[in-house]
Amino acid sequence: MPAMVEIMTPDTKARACGTCTLCCRLPEIDHLSKPANILCVNCVTGQGCLIYEHRPDLCRNFLCAWMTDPKLGPEWQPSLAKMMVYRQGDQLTVLVDPDEPQSWHREPYATQLSSWATQAAEYGGYVIVFVGNDVYKVAPANQPPQGKLASMSDA
Ligand code: SF4
Ligand code: SF4
Repeated sequence: MPAMVEIMTPDTKARACGTCTLCCRLPEIDHLSKPANILCVNCVTGQGCLIYEHRPDLCRNFLCAWMTDPKLGPEWQPSLAKMMVYRQGDQLTVLVDPDEPQSWHREPYATQLSSWATQAAEYGGYVIVFVGNDVYKVAPANQPPQGKLASMSDA
């Protein structure tokens, strides 16, 4: 499962997290010994981070793609989409809320993910989706569907 990475670009915080706390639940955060898909012990639903002023730099500097990229429309607000997106080098990482594991198959998300995979393939990039213990690579639009890449539970 991917860890949270620092991707914040200053001056791009045009949106607000509101009541969304997906990045406090879905990613693995080694610094906090937090496993993937488990709510951080410092997070209270509806209140947010209990150690906000003293939260680790990793948390302080992280913003998901919806927060930084105006090209992602309102439908990509993570708590609405039931998934969060962020970039890790050439990889666009999609963490799906395991409580809504089919989210990424719904429209408009499935078509958008395929489009991103097509665009990413042009520069050697890819789109990887994590759903619970399962990992998928999204197929570009002109290629046959790709199945599961791996399952953490197989390890
Ligand atoms: S997933 Fe994005 S919108 Fe949600 S709390 Fe984290 S940074 Fe904010
Ligand atoms: S320390 Fe705070 S900001 Fe960081 S994951 Fe936990 S609740 Fe979220």
